[in-house]
Amino acid sequence: MGGLNGKVVLITGGSSGIGEGTARQLAAHGARVVLGARRTERLGTIAAEIERAGGTVRWRALDVTDPRGMEAFVAFAEAEFGPVDVLVNNAGVMPLSPLSALKVDEWNRMIDVNVRGVLHGIAALLPRMEARGRGHIVNVSSVGGFVVQPTAAVYAATKFAVRAISEGLRKESDKIRCTCVYPGVVTSELANTISDPLARERMLSYRKIAIEPAAIGRAIQFAIEQPDDVDVNEIVVRPLATQA
Ligand code: NDP
Repeated sequence: MGGLNGKVVLITGGSSGIGEGTARQLAAHGARVVLGARRTERLGTIAAEIERAGGTVRWRALDVTDPRGMEAFVAFAEAEFGPVDVLVNNAGVMPLSPLSALKVDEWNRMIDVNVRGVLHGIAALLPRMEARGRGHIVNVSSVGGFVVQPTAAVYAATKFAVRAISEGLRKESDKIRCTCVYPGVVTSELANTISDPLARERMLSYRKIAIEPAAIGRAIQFAIEQPDDVDVNEIVVRPLATQA
């Protein structure tokens, strides 16, 4: 069955990039994976490929900004596989722009997906994990959770928030493990939503040196595979050849 011993792992934002790569990695090592995202066609294709490779996977439409949708996602996973062992709060968006561009809708979108989405995931699973006396929440922050670059004020604010939420969860629970992952540049579709020309241009060079999503999947696998009383709280994974 592999090192993950059939653990039930939910991954938000499983339709591309880090979520997809993590799903493939964990499924290949014995986890039973449940993918959620809005692009269901992509989820179906990824799930079929995982199954063909011998993995166990389910998928369901999910918009993390809707707390009821998150509840339904968790209920679906439980109906398919039983109690959830791990939630990977990965879904995120990054429409960068300078504050002066006043892209208020994009600011709100980042707050809704990157912060509220993480909280909705925690809200759906915390009571169940507390009742069971065990569980693991993995939150995907960013190196933007440590450092703020021009055009990234609001994005970084959401990732600082994910870091704060993770630290709070860690201190509040002696039953639930909490891991916050801080990736550097990873090949994905993340920069596709940038509408601001200056920020888009800047990202083209910034994102040239990137690592593959499986690198983050392996880091998450490492945290999950530790003994139950070991809590890997923070992991930073960057491309070697970068100073960012
Ligand atoms: P991608 O754009 O490739 O993936 C983002 C994922 O989030 C997609 O699966 C998308 O699915 C999902 N998503 C977006 N909005 C929602 C929503 N409302 N509800 C559910 N799912 C949603 O980018 P990455 O893989 O790079 O991003 C994954 C995470 O990694 C993000 O939190 C990002 O901030 C973080 N990160 C990425 C880095 C990088 O360089 N790639 C670096 C540091 C952090 P769909 O559109 O189908 O809903």
